[in-house]
This record gives sequence, structure tokens and C-alpha cells, in this order.
Amino acid sequence: MPMTPLQAISQKARALNVPISAHIDTTYRCNFICEHCILPSQFGGTELSTVEVVKVLEDLAALGTLFLTLSGGEVFLRKDLDDILAAADRLRFCTKLYTHGNFIDEARVAMLLARHVSEVQISFYSIDPCVHEKITRVPGSHAKSLHAIDLLVAAGVRVVLACPVTRYNFGSTKELTDFAKSRKIPIKISPQIQPTYSGELHTLSVATPSCELPNVYLEPWNESTLYALAKAPAAKFDDSANCGAARSTVYINPIGDVQGCALMGGLSAGNVRQRPLADIWRSSDVLKQIREIARKDREDCKRCENAKYCSFCMANSWQVTKTLLSPTASMCEQSNAKRLAVEEHKRRLPIFAAMADDPVGRQRGENGEGDGTEPEPDL
Ligand code: SF4
Ligand code: SF4
Repeated sequence: MPMTPLQAISQKARALNVPISAHIDTTYRCNFICEHCILPSQFGGTELSTVEVVKVLEDLAALGTLFLTLSGGEVFLRKDLDDILAAADRLRFCTKLYTHGNFIDEARVAMLLARHVSEVQISFYSIDPCVHEKITRVPGSHAKSLHAIDLLVAAGVRVVLACPVTRYNFGSTKELTDFAKSRKIPIKISPQIQPTYSGELHTLSVATPSCELPNVYLEPWNESTLYALAKAPAAKFDDSANCGAARSTVYINPIGDVQGCALMGGLSAGNVRQRPLADIWRSSDVLKQIREIARKDREDCKRCENAKYCSFCMANSWQVTKTLLSPTASMCEQSNAKRLAVEEHKRRLPIFAAMADDPVGRQRGENGEGDGTEPEPDL
């Protein structure tokens, strides 16, 4: 398959260590209390000021960043969000926001339009208010998120729904996918629950029960991915990077710590209040060490029967094992569930089995066409 333009840019950025994708958590404050939340339960320090955030944005632009993600916590709790977005717009970033949407009203939609925000990703867990609010633990939050979705869609802002699957909402993704289709908006669904940024594991207690995971991957939202997985060649353990962390992506937390990616909490490469971002990006030993890691270094994965189904994540390894190369129980469990789902789908649908096993079969459904789901661009 030929590379898409985005994949080609990503590959070049990784090769040249250009952080084309930057993620800034502008605050860790949030009025929701979701149990699966990956923010650390204890967090101190003073948030970067408006001036400091704008300086980070200017430094990112100088380093070659094109794609900017602003999130939190709840990003709309930053009173200066409009100033930050104005700077991002001036610097011509392609900017997206992650939010629960509860603070979005007509005035804020107008602000997002004026600042040319390219996408608003809204956390949305179920079309059933009871299920949604069992997760957010904020009464009335479902109606407010729905209202935000309607306002944004009506104004022509690109909306993406994001739904982590937990033990509270597994089994309700079909209705959610149908809802997204009815509004003509993409949805990202993932049963992979992560430890918190600081490595606390309590979030894993709300993950979908292991015995249900293959069924979650068999649901309609995942159909195109099942096909892609079935068609994928065996995993290669070569010189290529596991992902873009510290190569083409960079993360800055609310107090200015710089990391290779958002989930690498505690692996700080430096702080923008003490050293210029460009200096940290180019000469931090932590980032250099992450950059040197290749697929071939994952010794424990080389004989794994589920390797081609695996989305190995160095950050997950770091949070659980304090190494960047070790498999974790949750990664292995997810990969095994994906393999079981592919095998079961083949058993149920002979046409799927025939297409999946056809060596020249068409790669149908990549990028989520047709099922309402949309994977992240591989940056
Ligand atoms: S795969 Fe894991 S380590 Fe890599 S960028 Fe994503 S979260 Fe970070
Ligand atoms: S499933 Fe586990 S052992 Fe297999 S490739 Fe993934 S992380 Fe490694």
C-alpha cells in the first residue's frame, strides 16, 4: 500500500527528530471524577502562565511542529484559553482540543471558529445518560456534552467522539457507533485503559473484564481494524522505531515538564522554566535514550504469537515496569483478545476468512471508512 501524505510526513519527521506533533496539557484541573482518568491523583506546582504557554508555542513552531493538541484536565478551565488559541492560530498550527464539552456554549463555539481550531474531541461514554454519568460521576454531564456536540456540529466544527471502554460501558458501543454515524461524526473507541501518568495502577480496576475483551473487539466499531489485523504481515523486530515518542512527538505538562509523550509521566527531559525547549529537545539524555530504542530491542516479544496484534507501548511499559521494553499484562491481554476476535470473526463469517486469507485482497476499511471509527494519525 502506498503511504498517505501524512504517513510520509510522519516517517520523515521521525527520521529527522522533528516534533511535528506536540501535546500540551494546559491544566490538570477537572470537575469530573472518572475512575479511569489517567491524571495523577497528587499533583503540585504552578501552572504555566499565558506568557509561558505562548513562549512554548513559539518554540514549538521554531522546531517544526505542525499539529498541536491542547488538553487537560479540562482545557476550558483555563481562563486564558482564547489567548492560547489566538497564539496557536497566529503560529498556524493545526490545533485540536480534548474536552468533556460541558463548558461549551455559543460564545465558546464562536471563539473556536474565530481561532480556526481544526478539531474538538469530546469524551463521550454512552448514549445512556445513566451509564455516562456512572463514569463521570457528575449529574447532568451527559446532556451538556450532547448539547456541545450539537452546537459544534451545527457550527461546522469538526467533532470526534472519544470513548474508552470500561467495565461500565462495554456492550454499549454499538449504540454509540450508531449515534456517531447518525450525526456523521467519527468516533474513537478503545478498551485499552492506562495507568495514571504517575504510574498508579488503580485505573486498571475499571478495565473491561478479560473474558469480555474479545467480544468488545468483535463489535461493529472494530470491523475494519479486524480486517487490517487479519491482513497484517508478521511483526518485524528491526531497526525501526516502536512509535513516534521523542522522535516526532513531544509532550509538555501543565508545569512545563517535557516528555517524549503524554504517558511517560516521571520521565522528564527537563523543564521549560529552566531550559529553552529547543535545548531540551535536542540535547536531553532522556529523550536521546528513548530515541535509540528500536523494535529489535524488545527481546521478550520476539517469540510472541500475538506480536502482530500488539500495539506495544513504551510508556505503558514504563508506567508498569519502570523499563521501556518490557511487556505488561494489559498489553499482552489486549493483543491476545484481538487475535481471538480475528479468529472468531473468521469462524463466524466465511467471506471474511476468505478475504482475510487472500494474499492480494483489498485493504478495505483503512482509516475507518464505513464503520464510523477513526484511528489517530500515526505521528
Ligand atoms: S505508543 Fe505509547 S510510548 Fe508511543 S507515543 Fe503512544 S503512548 Fe507514547
Ligand atoms: S503481546 Fe506482549 S509479549 Fe507479545 S508483542 Fe505484545 S507486549 Fe510483547
